[in-house]
Amino acid sequence: MYTLIKNGTLIDGNGGQPILDAAVLLKDNRIEAVGKIDEIKQPNAEVEVVDAQNGFILPGFIDTHVHMMMEKMNLQKTLTTPFSLLFYKSIEYMKRTIDAGVTSVRDAGFTDVGVKEAVEQGLIVGPRMQISVVPLTITGGHGDNWMRSGFDLTRFSYPGMPHGICDGPEQVRQKVREVLRAGADIIKVHATGGVTSPTDHPKYTQFTQEELEIIVQEAAFRNGVKVMAHAQGSEGVKNAVRAGIHSIEHGIYLDEEVIELMLKHGTYLVPTLLAPISVLESAENSDDMPEHAIRKSREVIDIHRESVANAYKAGVKVAMGTDAGVMEHGTNLRELNLMCKIGMTPMEAIVATTKVAAQCLGWEDCLGTVEVGKLADIVITKTDPIADIGSLEDTTNIVTVIKDGKIEKNLLNKEESKSLVGILKH
Ligand SMILES: [Zn+2]
Repeated sequence: MYTLIKNGTLIDGNGGQPILDAAVLLKDNRIEAVGKIDEIKQPNAEVEVVDAQNGFILPGFIDTHVHMMMEKMNLQKTLTTPFSLLFYKSIEYMKRTIDAGVTSVRDAGFTDVGVKEAVEQGLIVGPRMQISVVPLTITGGHGDNWMRSGFDLTRFSYPGMPHGICDGPEQVRQKVREVLRAGADIIKVHATGGVTSPTDHPKYTQFTQEELEIIVQEAAFRNGVKVMAHAQGSEGVKNAVRAGIHSIEHGIYLDEEVIELMLKHGTYLVPTLLAPISVLESAENSDDMPEHAIRKSREVIDIHRESVANAYKAGVKVAMGTDAGVMEHGTNLRELNLMCKIGMTPMEAIVATTKVAAQCLGWEDCLGTVEVGKLADIVITKTDPIADIGSLEDTTNIVTVIKDGKIEKNLLNKEESKSLVGILKH
């Protein structure tokens, strides 16, 4: 089965000049040919035509930090929501993610392996994903939801979702093994405190460097599984980078020394600039955010922006990630505008959301750019993202989303596109 996308400007994810009058030929779920429309050899077979109607053709976007099974819940709602409802709700979250043009994600915690498999089996629509199951966390750290009332949310577990608390070399090693057994593709660890946790602070260092090294080593034993670290304070980030952690999430207090270390180790930074902003927005519009999260978000928001800007300017590899779940799913591409506000060009923000994000996930051989042989994950936008990066925030500008060769969303003028679907003469 062939599909020809034509009549668009191609932004292929490599960061070069966009190609006018471009076309992309798909064969099943692979990209067969890319270039100017007149350079593409038409196959001697039936071809379905997708007319981009002067839109822009891009690789499927990749968000390297999401939480596919949660969305801004206050404690009351968390305690009263029926357990299975979380699974049904994730169907809606994943649909919104696809509608936003995000065709691949890395899940930073709390998504069940069954949800991932349901997408893979085609039972529900959703992005391709790598999951971490549950983040590893120390007693009293970010991710420990033990309350001073004595109530303990953390130790709520079910088949496939062990709790993530572990302390000391023996326990962290065992916890990595347990999380991998539950289906993790990557290991997530909390190397510092955070904004949304009740009893700690972003600056607090969590896990020793020795513990982090064991986590990295144990994951690497399993065919090179990578470790992503929630890390905000500079000391915790340093420990994580020295231990060989693959990506630093959030990175609020990156000083010169940390940035040097990240450059030396080739560590990725996943900024999640949208996270503190959306915490404050939620505080204005609802009672979903606890007081400590609002206070800490206010405290770090400017520092965070400056920290990410310094790392980007120094040349640290930046992969787009939002923390979707802390904000509403489907608003992911707001992050690109924020990345431009810290100094990136729109093209750099797009590359961070396609090619670099694919590299961060280790999927660069099959995703991240529109190139021959790669998987057919393609987005068509109505507006020019280079001229107006903010236009990507409006999901009605994301007119077509193709994942794995299958059209998952199509808002293109129905009548017009219907008459254009047919057999090409050659
Ligand atoms: Zn997160």
